[in-house]
Amino acid sequence: MSKMNELADFMQDSLIEASANYKNDLRILPDAKVMKMGGQSINDRGRSVVFPIIDEIVENAKKHDIIITTGGGTRARHTYQVGIDLGMPVGVLSEMGGAITVQNARMLQMVMAKHGGIFLDHLEFEKIPLFLKLGCIPIMPGMPPYSFWEDIPDQGQIPIHRTDCGAFFTAEALGAESVYFIKDERGLYTEDPKKNPNAEFIQRIHVDDLIKEDLGDLIVERVILEYLKRSKFVNQLVMVNGMEKGALTESLAENPTGTVIYK
Ligand code: ADP
Ligand code: MG
Repeated sequence: MSKMNELADFMQDSLIEASANYKNDLRILPDAKVMKMGGQSINDRGRSVVFPIIDEIVENAKKHDIIITTGGGTRARHTYQVGIDLGMPVGVLSEMGGAITVQNARMLQMVMAKHGGIFLDHLEFEKIPLFLKLGCIPIMPGMPPYSFWEDIPDQGQIPIHRTDCGAFFTAEALGAESVYFIKDERGLYTEDPKKNPNAEFIQRIHVDDLIKEDLGDLIVERVILEYLKRSKFVNQLVMVNGMEKGALTESLAENPTGTVIYK
């Protein structure tokens, strides 16, 4: 065996050993509170819903390091529809949907500017600690940048990694334990409560049980459940009703009124 091969083998073995001994102890910003601002469910409802929840976020940002990621919403859905009709591949759809989350982040940042709202694109991820230290509230477009390399969906053509995933991976990268999803319902029900008002509310559910339940529709992107099972840091998804005053504050005080999906 040549010296080069020996070295390559040695590196391979030691890498496997290092990986097996990985310790989850580099938690970059473990206390960061990453929250997704719903696109369709919050943003698109306009000022009567957006302004009060922003006030609550600003109030809580005095005590917590809050990072906001934005959803896409109705305009993203329209974008996917047009793109699919024109035969766009999934990676192009991801880019197109992502552009809408940039729009939402821009608007939110302007509305929150006087409270230290600051727009941050993905390439500025490493500046998050600086902005938090300055007392700013970073606002990032929520689409995770899989972009043209988006995974191939099992069915259909809509990217499986959308903005709920973006919030999840932001929290996971920073070593945070919870991800907060601000939407327009108290949380998860046995069915979409907008379609069936008699659907039952689920206060807490283990991710394995939720996967087993195989509900027809969920309040978060389904693929996150698989990621939650494998996560190193995130151990719960907290649903927050952004239309209910105080729900976010209670959730941040570890007294959530909405559904908690845990592992
Ligand atoms: P976002 O605005 O964050 O993208 P979505 O509109 O994608 O949020 O998801 C939130 C919506 O999911 C809720 O408004 C609700 O009507 C719907 N939904 C579907 N299935 C469920 C369910 N099982 N429990 C609760 N909400 C559900
Ligand atoms: Mg959604």
